[in-house]
Amino acid sequence: MPESALYIVATPIGNLQDFTPRAIDMLNKVQVIAAEDTRHSARLMAHFNIKTPMVSVHEHNEAHRVERILQHLQQGESVALISDAGTPVISDPGFVLVRAVREAGFNVVPVPGCVAFVTALCASGLPSHRFSFEGFPPHKSSGRKQFYSERAGLPHTMAFYESPHRILASIDDMIEVFGADRQAAMARELTKTFETIHSAPLSELRDWMAADANQQRGEFVIMVEGAPVQEARELDDEALRVLDVLLAELSVKQASALAAQITGLKKKPLYQAALERKKD
Ligand code: SAM
Repeated sequence: MPESALYIVATPIGNLQDFTPRAIDMLNKVQVIAAEDTRHSARLMAHFNIKTPMVSVHEHNEAHRVERILQHLQQGESVALISDAGTPVISDPGFVLVRAVREAGFNVVPVPGCVAFVTALCASGLPSHRFSFEGFPPHKSSGRKQFYSERAGLPHTMAFYESPHRILASIDDMIEVFGADRQAAMARELTKTFETIHSAPLSELRDWMAADANQQRGEFVIMVEGAPVQEARELDDEALRVLDVLLAELSVKQASALAAQITGLKKKPLYQAALERKKD
């Protein structure tokens, strides 16, 4: 019997050979598997002949299910959390449960494996010494543009998840906000038969995908390179000092516009620097 704990178990994102022996072993040994969608996971369990009972834990019942999971742990049992694919909690349910279990004083043990954005990033050719995972953008174009604008000045690679229904519209919004020439990469159907990883400036990437309906199907990670360093370097210490003074009182937009007037520098790098500094 494994030590009583909540085990966060990663499952494959496509290729079943990516299911680790340790993950399979844990799912066989725990008393209960908490699954995002029990019907979906039943197929995976059948394939690996895992017979452990499952309960559903999804975004609509997660808070409610916490009590039940805690009861198992109080009895000295072990519970595994899985999601439909990849690592639970990452753009998937589980955060509420993990926090509650830790706060109740029980162990939470990660059993690592696939994460789609890491799988995508490592083969994208985009800078990866520093990057951020930004999850799913909003569904509507107006919200999405706002979401991208807030990230336009980030100097590092960003990874986004996006659905096939919105992929082209979302890249259109990226072009508008990040600019047509910003380097990007899409990773589609990772670890599956039609796996495709294609890197190009945003407008070329958009045209390449629009020209072939097959390239708009499946599951996607979209990665965008960070804002050019050159623009950030244009700002000297004095400009940044002015920006900081204004930022203490004003919004990012107002502070960068005023800083541009005071310093005579371009608004865009000041806006990007303001976004960065407001975050710190
Ligand atoms: N927990 C998962 C993980 O560890 O990456 C992510 C779950 S999230 C609900 C599902 C999204 O992840 C998809 O819409 C897609 O953006 C991305 N994704 C999952 N599997 C993928 C794959 N095989 N290829 C490309 N993207 C994938």
